[in-house]
Amino acid sequence: MTTKVVQDSRVAAGATGEPVSLTRPRLAADVRIRTEPFGYLAYVGDRDHFFAIDHVGARVIDAAQLAIPIAARDEPIARVLARYGIVAADAGQAYHHGVSLIGDFDAVPPIDRPLVVNCFATAECPLRCRYCYADDLMRREGKGGDVDLVAQTAEAVPAMVAVITGGEPLARIDRTERLISRLAGGKALVLDTSGAGDLEPLLPALQDARVHLRVSLDSFDRALNDRLRPGRTRSSGKGARAALGLARTAGLPTTVQTVVTAANDDRDALRRMRDDLMAAGVRNWVLHGLAPAGKAAGPAGRALRPDASTPETLADLVRDSAMADLPINIRVTANDRPGNSALIIGSTGDLYVEHDRRGKIRVAGPGDPADQVLAACRRHVSPAGHAGRYLNGSIQPYGSGLVAKTLTVGSVESSDGRGRREREQTPGR
Ligand code: SF4
Repeated sequence: MTTKVVQDSRVAAGATGEPVSLTRPRLAADVRIRTEPFGYLAYVGDRDHFFAIDHVGARVIDAAQLAIPIAARDEPIARVLARYGIVAADAGQAYHHGVSLIGDFDAVPPIDRPLVVNCFATAECPLRCRYCYADDLMRREGKGGDVDLVAQTAEAVPAMVAVITGGEPLARIDRTERLISRLAGGKALVLDTSGAGDLEPLLPALQDARVHLRVSLDSFDRALNDRLRPGRTRSSGKGARAALGLARTAGLPTTVQTVVTAANDDRDALRRMRDDLMAAGVRNWVLHGLAPAGKAAGPAGRALRPDASTPETLADLVRDSAMADLPINIRVTANDRPGNSALIIGSTGDLYVEHDRRGKIRVAGPGDPADQVLAACRRHVSPAGHAGRYLNGSIQPYGSGLVAKTLTVGSVESSDGRGRREREQTPGR
């Protein structure tokens, strides 16, 4: 039976420059772990990615926390954990291409404590995206807001990651900086931005708090991007590219996020975008299928909804990328229903769940005790929907081979490690 040594922990290691032994493993830098009935959840900050790890991998995580050697039988799974940046290693990290499940899983396991909470730094935004998921909340909350109340509610939500979002966080740098300083340390942080504003003054705070930057870009075709994400005064595509350039110079871990709609879900266009991202040095890409939330729930959003074949198109994209071993991590979120899967704290500190049919419903607020907040999350959030959102659940039914196992590790391996990898992660239909 697996020994659980901590409930939640953050271990910063693996960046010391010392040679790393996989027989005496340690967690990699910026990795957070949490015990779960199936083993562990691991969040890798550098990739902005969650992995569910079964009881076999859990033995390695336990050993890493206790600083004790692993048994020889666990070395193969330790290598898998090292390849995905969970366990520290000298070299040999691999791109995960949609892999979220490590070990013996038939499906995404349900999770009854939140993984992610989205926190509004502000309800203001200079863009008018045609599908804006937050439009209803922004209209409801206007220009007011209090980030201390947002932080208070976020602290009561037992999520591993807080996404600082809005609105556009760059529209109110003062609030964004304050929210970062309030939440840093307690949770891993991600900053969502469209690049519509000046990122530069925020860079020191992002670096100090090791914030992962997520930049919205729907297409490298500037005209198409700006049609989907129109800015009031400037091109949103230009702002996004400027943000990516600054992040690269500052060495910030960065993801590009793309909302997949009927306007950009073409198979070839997505492949071109992937290739353009790689050429631009982007190493993490998350694709969100358009969900009928906010503006997208209304008649204007209906025309943008991707068709029924889009999940398969996205699974194909991931599968091709895995087979070609392309240097880009890809994650896909659900594409059709919000499915009570997302938690959002508005700019006044109220906690909302995006409900299937009723839009955003308030479930808790600032000052509510943590046990009540967790009970509200459990009452309103779908354990399978929430887990699926962050663990590539929407493409699992398309058999992209997104479970990494150690079936034949240890046998013949090519010099670049590719042979072994393909046996671990077997893309198939
Ligand atoms: S940038 Fe975000 S908040 Fe602003 S309009 Fe677009 S989707 Fe809505």
